[in-house]
Amino acid sequence: MQVRLVRLISLLTLCAALGSAPLVRAQDGGDKPPTGMTIHVVQRGETLFRIAQRYGTTVEDLARLNGIQNPSALAVGQRLIVPSPPVSPEESAIGIPTEYTLQVGDTLFKLAAAFGTTEAAIARRNAITNPRLMYVGQRLALQEGSQSAQGIRTGWIHRVRRGETLYHIAARYSTSPDLLRLINSLPRADLLYIGQPLIVPSDENGVPLTDLPFPLARFEMTPVEQGRTSALRLITQEPTRLAITFMGKPVTVFSDEAGVTHTALLAVSPLAEPDIYPLRVVADQHVAEWRVRVADGGYRTEAITLAADQLDLLNPSVTQPEEERVRQVVSAITPQRYFGGLMGLPCAAPVSSPFGARRSYNGGALNTLHTGTDFAALPGAAVYAPAAGVVVLAEPLSVRGNAIILDHGWGVFSGYWHLESISVRAGALVQAGEVIGTVGSSGRSTGPHLHWELFVQGVQVDPLQWTKQSFP
Ligand SMILES: [Zn+2]
Repeated sequence: MQVRLVRLISLLTLCAALGSAPLVRAQDGGDKPPTGMTIHVVQRGETLFRIAQRYGTTVEDLARLNGIQNPSALAVGQRLIVPSPPVSPEESAIGIPTEYTLQVGDTLFKLAAAFGTTEAAIARRNAITNPRLMYVGQRLALQEGSQSAQGIRTGWIHRVRRGETLYHIAARYSTSPDLLRLINSLPRADLLYIGQPLIVPSDENGVPLTDLPFPLARFEMTPVEQGRTSALRLITQEPTRLAITFMGKPVTVFSDEAGVTHTALLAVSPLAEPDIYPLRVVADQHVAEWRVRVADGGYRTEAITLAADQLDLLNPSVTQPEEERVRQVVSAITPQRYFGGLMGLPCAAPVSSPFGARRSYNGGALNTLHTGTDFAALPGAAVYAPAAGVVVLAEPLSVRGNAIILDHGWGVFSGYWHLESISVRAGALVQAGEVIGTVGSSGRSTGPHLHWELFVQGVQVDPLQWTKQSFP
């Protein structure tokens, strides 16, 4: 059986109304509880055990206070005397407060289910008035609650589609309609509405509870920062062709042979403004869009002084043709992936100028950017390939001097400028750690150093990040 969603889904627009009542109304109606007591109105799905847990009391005490003979025969709407002062649901929540960073596949409904609290409580605590404005990377204060569905951290949020029954949904996820009814506190199996969120639990080792539109099953993304690379991995419920755009630009997606595991690298220019940007995923005819935060990269500023005879370094007529040549070389996308694991450092020397520094030359404006990482290495020091790759450029250039560019596959290229010597030829496959040349001061350079540059799908990004974080 195959049920397909043909409509456009935007994940964050599907959150339920925020005005919904909190799970527990500690005081209700005209009943005046005795001093030091409160009245709890039993909600659907609650047990005496949960209520006792919430108020820090015991099942025995509650049963005795309320004259309950059979603790499993609670009625929805039944009023119970509870021996504690009235508390709000947030304050009464058990468990430790957590700072949580919003991920792709999170909605208020999902977070409420996973943390055992209510959407309204999360919204109130975090001053969220419009869930559509939530974004990936947003920090939320959450606290473990005590709702009946609490603790379900693996599985899916399934949004009911036209024509579906609880039996269809149970079959799709290999579970039982009874379990779905129980977990979701549904009064009747035949009372579903289109768009209704249902929690479909999976076992302990299942996918993290996620609220993704079909056919997406899992979505992992590392934090997105100015000038850095973010890894994105998607798993689909069936073989799917994906197209992704981020910040309005298409992103190359690499899918496995089965067509269910998809990987992409997001490279953000260091010049991009820290802000919220759209991430759009088209899976066959289904479209999903999220708002994603690009965080500040924390780059510093540098003042550089050039001698009069070096000022043509800044002359576009000198730099432009070479720039275009390099751009062309690094714009290729090789489907073969040579990199894997952490990259090594290209030379054994301290960093003298970091990537991303805003530069002013001879007292001018801060209008240029350092597009690589400089190492203060001695002339003649060995330069190593930080990862396996194919040499795609190995020749003297006028600005960059003796230059090497390696293609690591998947649109990842590294560049080495101002070398004294080059010991590899274009077309050669080099392994990680192999010597490719020596440090020098060729081209327009202010002294011996290695300038190391990393391009990911044509965007210059921080190379040192790749020595600390491995990409899938
Ligand atoms: Zn440099």
